[in-house]
Amino acid sequence: MNLPHPGLPSFDYIRAQTLEQVVDLLLKHPTDVRLFMGGTDILVQMRDGLLEPKTLVDVKHLPGMTTIEFDPDVGLRLGAATSMNAVAQHQAVVENYPLLAEAANTVASYQLRNRATVGGNLCNASPAADTAPAILVLEASLIAFGPSGERSIPAEKFFLGPGESAFNQGELLTRIDIPLLPKGCHGRYLKLGRNAGGDLALVGVAVLGYPDETVDSDYRFRVALASVAPTPIRALKAEEILAGKSITDETLQQASDAAMDAAEPIDDVRASARYRKAMVRALTRRALSEVWAMLREEN
Ligand SMILES: Cc1cc2nc3c(=O)[nH]c(=O)nc-3n(C[C@H](O)[C@H](O)[C@H](O)COP(=O)(O)OP(=O)(O)OC[C@H]3O[C@@H](n4cnc5c(N)ncnc54)[C@H](O)[C@@H]3O)c2cc1C
Repeated sequence: MNLPHPGLPSFDYIRAQTLEQVVDLLLKHPTDVRLFMGGTDILVQMRDGLLEPKTLVDVKHLPGMTTIEFDPDVGLRLGAATSMNAVAQHQAVVENYPLLAEAANTVASYQLRNRATVGGNLCNASPAADTAPAILVLEASLIAFGPSGERSIPAEKFFLGPGESAFNQGELLTRIDIPLLPKGCHGRYLKLGRNAGGDLALVGVAVLGYPDETVDSDYRFRVALASVAPTPIRALKAEEILAGKSITDETLQQASDAAMDAAEPIDDVRASARYRKAMVRALTRRALSEVWAMLREEN
């Protein structure tokens, strides 16, 4: 009989001492070594027999990996191994990037959020990652360290496919940099799961809106979707519609229709593609309406 969860295979554990050591291990053993922070993705994949690395390298204790720094002139610097709870509760995040705190807070349960890291959520490159749409609309950069030193990868170039990211051989994520946000912006992350808490997103929608006199509507919106395409995506056509004409109920509806059209979900055990598409439209409409109400209140 094939067990659904064959059990965790044995493996060696290395607590990394330096970034250079990690790069060296990744280059020398590209198939046998995997990185690990909270372990809430990789240990499950190993338990289920999907991965069988010989060695897990724990990188969360490296300097800066759990640091959260906010500079009012630059923005937010988030160590890759910062836990979801640390992000959701950090004062600078709550005050300046509430959308990110909201997204982090939707991940699983409180207990899991103590282990699960924002960096791990992004590196796992699941289309359903809850922090990915927030990272996309916040136009963050992922900072990788590798054989040639540090490089910055814009969030929109990071996700290449299910489980596939833009890292080169030997690279690891050290930080997520989020720029200062446009003045007067408001955001929302809405997630639909099979139950009220603790489930992966069937659909996730992040919206960020802000005044911008350079566009016809006087407002710019950024819209990103999770769990409805091979990668988390920006709904660019919806954004274009919202910039191009006065914001009315009809404009919000047209943009929500465009977000639905951008979605290319699959049928799986958790939901049908058709249902997911309809839910993209509904959640986008709701998120846009809520953000628009907040913007109007101030202008
Ligand atoms: C019960 C349960 C419920 C969950 N619910 C949700 C949910 O609601 N929403 C959601 O989005 N996710 C959910 N997840 C998935 C998971 O918890 C998150 O994706 C989490 O944020 C992963 O972070 P981690 O630190 O545990 O990652 P890890 O498992 O440590 O690593 C994840 C991946 O990234 C790689 N990696 C680790 N560190 C680095 C690094 N520094 N550089 C490059 N690669 C690296 C690892 O090799 C692995 O492939 C759930 C998981 C479980 C078990």
